[in-house]
Amino acid sequence: MSDERPDAAILLRAIEFASRKHSTQRRKDEEASPYINHPIAVMQLLADTGGITDLVTLMAAALHDTIEDTETTAAELDEQFGQNVRTVVEEMTDDKTLDKAVRKKRQIEHAPHLSRRAKAIKLADKIANVRDVMESPPPDWSLARRIEYLDWTEKVVAGCRGTNEGLEMLYDEVLKEGRGKFGQTQAAPRTFLGLSSDR
Ligand code: NDP
Ligand code: ZN
Repeated sequence: MSDERPDAAILLRAIEFASRKHSTQRRKDEEASPYINHPIAVMQLLADTGGITDLVTLMAAALHDTIEDTETTAAELDEQFGQNVRTVVEEMTDDKTLDKAVRKKRQIEHAPHLSRRAKAIKLADKIANVRDVMESPPPDWSLARRIEYLDWTEKVVAGCRGTNEGLEMLYDEVLKEGRGKFGQTQAAPRTFLGLSSDR
């Protein structure tokens, strides 16, 4: 990848690549929104709320679901966008050969060990998904399932803290709003870390 290209051109190339790769996919909301809306929302959160200008982080955000959800390979990302971007996208990729429940548990366990860049993207990803679960959820999800999803994001985010104050504060606000909307007065006990909720 040439280092002489302007930042905006490189970033737009990553967005264009992601839009092509996700072109036949839709989100799980009732309206089946175009999939690319999600990586773009994540990028915007990083740039806007997070104040992040690091090109590798923003490019990896655009591409964060390409290996997991499309035919894109790590080698392809390496060739197109360089090793740094490829590595961060790989960090964001769940092992789809594993059972879903195991994958979700792994995200919680792996979060503290992610790079700073991947942690920031995770934070933005969870903000975007909590918003989706509140505002445009998959139509077949019960209230219990939506609450369960919020609980899970809180556990993943716990491992990403100390990375970006703006994103962490927004996550807390969005979560609180979600719990309010779902009629929960307080967070579920945080027993997963051996923390009691009354501390
Ligand atoms: P899924 O992983 O199937 O769906 C959630 C993921 O889909 C998100 O993380 C997001 O990922 C993507 N997504 C796309 N569109 C939307 C949208 N509009 N709103 C929210 N997310 C969207 O579901 P779960 O995360 O719930 O995983 C399955 C787990 O759910 C199982 O482990 C099981 O324990 C539990 N479960 C609970 C049930 C219950 O009723 N309580 C019933 C069945 C399962 P991305 O950002 O990567 O695109
Ligand atoms: Zn995502």
